[in-house]
Amino acid sequence: MIKTPVLVVGGGPVGLCVAGDLGWRGIDCMEIERGDGVVGQPKMDMPHIRTLEFCRRWGLVEQVERSGYNRKHPQDNIWITSLIGGYELGRESFPCPDDEPYPPQSPQRRERAPQNFFDPVIAKWTKSFPNVDLRYFTELVDFTERDDRVAATIRDVKTGKTEEVECQYLVGCDGAGSIVREKLGITMTGNAVLTYTTNVIFRSRELEKKQTIKSGYRYIFIGPEGTWATIVAIDGYDNFRFSLVGDAGRKQLTDEDLLAEIRRAIGGPCDVELISTMPWTRRELVADKYGSRRVFLVGDSAHQLSPTGAFGMNTGLQEAVDITWKLEGMIRGWGGPKLLDSYETERKPVAARNVKTAAENLARMLETRKRKPPPAIFEPGPAGDAARKAYGDWYTAQMWHEWYTIGIHTGYRYDSSPIVVGDGTEPPPWSPSEYVQTSHAGCRAPHAWLKDGRSTLDLFGKGFVLLRLGANPPDAAPLLEAAKSRGLPMNAIAIDEPAVTAVYEKKLVLVRPDGHVAWRGDALPADPLALVDRIRGA
Ligand SMILES: Cc1cc2nc3c(=O)[nH]c(=O)nc-3n(C[C@H](O)[C@H](O)[C@H](O)COP(=O)(O)OP(=O)(O)OC[C@H]3O[C@@H](n4cnc5c(N)ncnc54)[C@H](O)[C@@H]3O)c2cc1C
Repeated sequence: MIKTPVLVVGGGPVGLCVAGDLGWRGIDCMEIERGDGVVGQPKMDMPHIRTLEFCRRWGLVEQVERSGYNRKHPQDNIWITSLIGGYELGRESFPCPDDEPYPPQSPQRRERAPQNFFDPVIAKWTKSFPNVDLRYFTELVDFTERDDRVAATIRDVKTGKTEEVECQYLVGCDGAGSIVREKLGITMTGNAVLTYTTNVIFRSRELEKKQTIKSGYRYIFIGPEGTWATIVAIDGYDNFRFSLVGDAGRKQLTDEDLLAEIRRAIGGPCDVELISTMPWTRRELVADKYGSRRVFLVGDSAHQLSPTGAFGMNTGLQEAVDITWKLEGMIRGWGGPKLLDSYETERKPVAARNVKTAAENLARMLETRKRKPPPAIFEPGPAGDAARKAYGDWYTAQMWHEWYTIGIHTGYRYDSSPIVVGDGTEPPPWSPSEYVQTSHAGCRAPHAWLKDGRSTLDLFGKGFVLLRLGANPPDAAPLLEAAKSRGLPMNAIAIDEPAVTAVYEKKLVLVRPDGHVAWRGDALPADPLALVDRIRGA
């Protein structure tokens, strides 16, 4: 019998971050992954700003930046008829990763780091914690949840040997086909099939030299039938990912079929070596529940969405960071009985919004199938040029929503959570494409540069932090005393720097371990203990 406080099932990017963040917090856990941890088919390739802020907290930004993508490779998104000799209909230009600007709201920028580069960085970090027992080739077979623990059966997939694990909490990061979700009997709501898509990783040493379209990151192919395929520069060198977008009808495709489709997209002679193929189903689903009392769903086990927007893993990592400090609170004894319930209350609405937005982005991309391209766009000459310009401009406007999503990635908030305490004012309106920093309760605590060169975000992560702001901030002792009496870790930091006080708006701002504001005010509440009890879910 193995005993561990937390059993994490699944070693994809989300499971690795759950186990790694628990390890970073000093909480023992065991993580099991059925496979060998090698990513043959990178799906995710853009960890976004908030994910990089987490990586900053964990000291991993440099490793992600250096993980392998060609940082000089252009990142434009381009709509074309073919790569060699085809027409360009429009493009949205973005700088190469090295030149990507930092948004004023963050010390970090989004990165291009596909999973075959990103996951090993997280895995190495997770394995570096002696309190994390990460086992590959090990799968969850079954579990039973009891009042005071979870009893799980795991199996070594090579030998077939089974072992029993007793844990206080089980976290299912086991992806779309989650056995954890199935065993909990949790259903999902939404659309189970948007498209049947096939991804192919291929190598071509000649493509970038031979293509007549100016280089970019993502090429979207428009044929007489509308949008039919995409190719992305998956490492910025000679590896590419082709996606045959597909539709709601399942097709059996051979390597020869796929090669023919890739050749159609390329449009001229060029070397192509198929490396791996992956048929997958594009879905629009959110789990109806995010877990039970002791078992939780995190990542793709809880939601599945179209990759149009790069929301999937990024949403999963936000969930990881939401649940780990709550598990820590329960295991260390300062978490109240309602603390873990707030995981679903906070995260499910965010997932539902992201899943819906991703499906809307897909619908806009596929609008071309209803509104078929005029035949003139495939014809040479001035009339063709004019048709291409008109159609390309329309398509560029259609796709805009997918590229500008800082509000989705950083502006998510928990203002209706039972464990945050609002001050009766409304936060600024939320928008998918814009992000206004605010210290309203439930929102991500703002970034501002400190005089010593750190970001305010560098102050958060372990325990609660009470920022005392301005020249004469109120005494925080009663709140710190109240926290201490409940065993809740809290420290106070005084900052009298105009850049910080302006963006933090109030004299006192209490920030949770995940970097979201729990409470704010210009004076301590009359009953500090009641506040502490509320934020710890008592
Ligand atoms: C083409 C494409 C592009 C994408 N691009 C992006 C992007 O740019 N940005 C983004 O944020 N997201 C993107 N996504 C989505 C992203 O890849 C997923 O959201 C992410 O991989 C989910 O991570 P996960 O760890 O939850 O699940 P998974 O990656 O599916 O990992 C689950 C793991 O659990 C293991 N497992 C399953 N069952 C068991 C068991 N019983 N016992 C032990 N282990 C088990 C599996 O072997 C697997 O390793 C993209 C997806 C696709 C398809």
